[in-house]
Amino acid sequence: MNRYTERKRAGAASFTAAGKPVRCGHCGGGSFELRHALLNTAGLTFFKLDWANRQAAVLVCGTCGLAQWFLQEPERAD
Ligand SMILES: [Zn+2]
Repeated sequence: MNRYTERKRAGAASFTAAGKPVRCGHCGGGSFELRHALLNTAGLTFFKLDWANRQAAVLVCGTCGLAQWFLQEPERAD
């Protein structure tokens, strides 16, 4: 119950990345839920991204659910 309350308070929000508003690549929506995910180290090495933080920010579209991954955390816009 506590979890549900926290998630609701966090809610969906707008974000900017590299100074530009983040838009959903599928539906064009601008409201996302921010989550974090651990990256697979072997995958990072394969993509030559071992310099990157092992934690990625994931923005999940509040409209269609498409997940976009960011290795640099987007800024909350509101
Ligand atoms: Zn979407």
